[in-house]
This record gives sequence, C-alpha cells and structure tokens, in this order.
Amino acid sequence: MRLELPGLFDLQVNGFGGVDFNAPDLTTDRVAVALERMRATGVTRCLPTLITSSLDEFAAGARVLARMSHTAIVGIHMEGPYLSPEDGARGAHPRAHVMPASVDDFKRRQDAAAGRIVLVTLAPEVAGAVTLIEHLAASGVRVAIGHTAADAAQIADAIAAGATLATHLGNGCAQMLPRHPNVIWELLAADGVAASLIVDGHHLPPATVKAIVRAKSPGKTMLVTDAVAAAGCAPGHYRIGGVDCDLREDGRVSLPGTPYLAGTRLTLDCAIANTVRFTGLPLDAVIPMASTIPASYLGMTTAGTAIADWDPDAYELRIRDVVPIST
Ligand SMILES: [Zn+2]
Repeated sequence: MRLELPGLFDLQVNGFGGVDFNAPDLTTDRVAVALERMRATGVTRCLPTLITSSLDEFAAGARVLARMSHTAIVGIHMEGPYLSPEDGARGAHPRAHVMPASVDDFKRRQDAAAGRIVLVTLAPEVAGAVTLIEHLAASGVRVAIGHTAADAAQIADAIAAGATLATHLGNGCAQMLPRHPNVIWELLAADGVAASLIVDGHHLPPATVKAIVRAKSPGKTMLVTDAVAAAGCAPGHYRIGGVDCDLREDGRVSLPGTPYLAGTRLTLDCAIANTVRFTGLPLDAVIPMASTIPASYLGMTTAGTAIADWDPDAYELRIRDVVPIST
C-alpha cells in the first residue's frame, strides 16, 4: 500500500551511516553525509544528540553542529552530563564526566552551541537539578528526565520545576528495581510528562511498549532511534567513539563478548513498523509519534513529505522518496 506521511522527526540520534556525532573528529561534511542517509529513512528533521563528555569535548562537537545551516538540524539534544553516576542508570555515559547540574556549566555549553540546545536530558536527583530545570524552562529549553535513580519526591520536584519528558522511558535506569514504587511507574503516571521510546525490539519487550503507550496515550508518546553510527550500516564489527561494538544481522548493537547493548541501529521508519506490531494500533495512530508529536513538543513543525510502501502483513514500512528534497 502506497502512502504519504509527514517527514519524520527524531529527537535523539547520536550518529548514522558510519558517522558518530560525538566523535572528536566530527566535521560538517560528515554530519551532512549522516543527514543524507537519515533522509533515506524518511527523517527530515532531527536533534543530533551529544552525550556526557568534558566541557571541551562537548564544545568542539557543539560548534560543528551549530555551524551548520542544514534544514534537517533543528537543534541539539544534550543528554548529560548531569546524570546519575550509578551503574545501570548511567548506561553507556562515561562515569568520569558525569557531574552535578550547574547553570554556569550549561551556559558555557549553550554558548558553544550558539544557543541551539533545545532539549536537555538530566537526572532530577543530582545536586543543582531543580535550579537548572527552572533556568532551562524559563529560557524555553525543554527538559527531559532520564538516566536516573530518582525517587518519587525527586521526580515530582523536577516536574514542578518544568520537566516535561521522560527520555527513553524504561531504559536508562537500574537493572533491578523495587516492583513499586519505582522510577518507571512514577514517570508513567505523571500526566504532565510525555515519553520517548526506543522501539527496536531489543531495548524494550513488546508488552512493555504496548503497556507504556497505553498508559501514556499515543498523543504523549514519541519514537526515537537513539541510533549510533552503525545505523544504516551492514552487520559487522565497528569502532564508534573509541568503543568496539558488534552489529548483528538482527539489528542488535552490542559490546563484543557481552550481553550489553551499545546503542541502536534503529531507523525511525522501522520504529514505526515495530510499534504498530507491538501495540496493535493502526499505522495512522503511530506515524504522528515519529513526526508531528515530537515536532509540536518542541514548538516546531515537520518538514516535507515521505512517500512509503506499507506491508501490513509483514509490518514493513519502506520509504521510497522524500519530497521536497532539501539540503
Ligand atoms: Zn540515553
């Protein structure tokens, strides 16, 4: 079945097509290559995501992204460094650079990014978080809760201060949690908080995706790829940001010889198809989660139209073209 959908919008992408946005040798030409390859998956707007690193490393990457006038880059998602230092909650973020929240540190990073940071993921329990959330909310930067071991009161304080999103809900928390209360239930129940999800079939089991989407409602759910440079690449062995990883035939990206995930090679068209399969929702209800909902969350719009073929029996969405072609 041939159909038209809005250009897709990815709030969280760390790299694509062999290009790592967090690499120290990032160039505008390499970012442009990644954006070109993302467009083939229907993505016409995105927030390149810079994760926890030193101020100098962050500033170098942010300056490259800020220099670009490419229409696909509508801002930067800063994930970290104000995250939980605990194993599990911290995920793949380097412990050495995780730090308390600081308005001064943020201002330096935002200056390096020429004001283009539009979304910050932080952990509410780190020192200084509430003050920073209030500062960000007042300056129009969206605040997401993630990579956290916060308790219920800390989450409530963060929401009261202006946090409005749970970053990749169900991931970025301790491997073992008390059945209740815990951070997942608290964020699920928070009416003022939307959720982003990594629906690659590896980060969240199908039943978890279905339950989260029902609890949050489709209108408050956004699909992200959280893709690393291996996205859009053939299976094999890669070195990404100084870390070796294996990309399997089934799409799993892992640290060699371990069960640990090292990001995703998910594409947003595939995330849409997976979400239809896992939730039983119609395609029409899922497409906005990867397009208009994240766009309007940021006060933006989608760009362009993607032409796609949808096979409802195989749950396969194939992007054929994106119009207009913009650069
Ligand atoms: Zn993350």
